[in-house]
Amino acid sequence: MIKDNLEHIQKTIPEHVTLIAVSKTKPQGDILEAYKAGHRHFGENKVQEMVDKFDDLPKDIKWHMIGHLQRNKVKYMVHFVHLIHGVDSLKTLKEINKQAEKHNRVIQCLLQAKIAEEDSKFGLSFSDIESILSGEEISNFKNIAIVGLMGMATFTDDESQIEREFSSLKNAFDRLQQKHDSLEILSMGMSGDYKIAIENGSTMVRIGSSIFGKRNYQ
Ligand SMILES: *Cc1c(COP(=O)(O)O)cnc(C)c1O
Repeated sequence: MIKDNLEHIQKTIPEHVTLIAVSKTKPQGDILEAYKAGHRHFGENKVQEMVDKFDDLPKDIKWHMIGHLQRNKVKYMVHFVHLIHGVDSLKTLKEINKQAEKHNRVIQCLLQAKIAEEDSKFGLSFSDIESILSGEEISNFKNIAIVGLMGMATFTDDESQIEREFSSLKNAFDRLQQKHDSLEILSMGMSGDYKIAIENGSTMVRIGSSIFGKRNYQ
């Protein structure tokens, strides 16, 4: 099942788009099934759950932290995390840099932009992103690399709204990229909206339920 879902989705996305299989709440057996089918990029939204899975599963898995990050949890994952998607403050960047330094790593981060209408979604405004990228402080953070932006669209059936939100992020990304050439990743798109995201320039999609089935939150 999982293998078939993966293959099916992989066929519908262009080669330059990286597929992150979002395995949050799913058992390790499900991840192994995807792993055996050749998949290596997995996404989790809780640090403790990701740490447990990292400890038990093959070490060539690339772990993506896609959830909202609490600063006090950063230290538990800096030794292995591949990419942190949801960074939305300078304070968090500072903490990632500090912890990464202890492990002699440079950690790749994406800044999360708030593009959705919903108040529940985290993220920075485009002007805040601009200030962080151009600010002095960031140049002192030797152990992080800001390699792109991430965003989540509003949860709605209105495709034109989703399209508007993704294209606003793509426009900001293109504009920022002219000054900041370290930006190369645009992480946007989930099971319900990844096709619209790709049409609007996404280079990384985060897909959970279409691969692993519905999540069961208890
Ligand atoms: C859960 C989650 C996803 C995947 O959602 P699906 O709708 O199951 O594909 C993608 N991105 C983030 C940030 C998530 O928390």
